[in-house]
Amino acid sequence: MSYFRTCSVILECCAGFDYDHFQLARIKWRNEFQLNPGLCERYQGNLRQWFADLMRPAKAEPLAACWQVFDGQKFCDGNAVQHEVVLNLPITLIIEMGDISPGNNWEITKTLSPYPNNSTATAHGVKYSVVGHIYLSPGGHHFIARYFSAPGAKPEIFDHDGGKREGHVIL
Ligand SMILES: [Zn+2]
Repeated sequence: MSYFRTCSVILECCAGFDYDHFQLARIKWRNEFQLNPGLCERYQGNLRQWFADLMRPAKAEPLAACWQVFDGQKFCDGNAVQHEVVLNLPITLIIEMGDISPGNNWEITKTLSPYPNNSTATAHGVKYSVVGHIYLSPGGHHFIARYFSAPGAKPEIFDHDGGKREGHVIL
């Protein structure tokens, strides 16, 4: 699973009126990374910014209320927030771009860095490189793919279309 997926944990924090308190949820496998027009608008189609933000553990989303509630009675009026902390980097990063629709246009860069502002990660070359695109027609039960040769091999581009050339890949 960790070859293709990330797992994450939700950390909830609340600065209550007398003491700070924290709650950790169970670690869970995260859904596939999916983009949509709403995210595109938020990040102005900047894939790098979206990815860096996703991996940044310091980001906090406000919660409607603190979790210290029992039988509808609130025990804390503090401002609670939650952080999603991604715990691993998959070897193969899969990003589902979503439907081709107006307002869902992303700038696809050759590389994508999970920690662009971390000098140690940059020095060790922690980054993803684009190696393939897959285009799916769910209604037509059909996909086509274009992918790059393995790193270190002679740089070549291959096309696959299961509906053509009896499923053979062409250079
Ligand atoms: Zn609280």
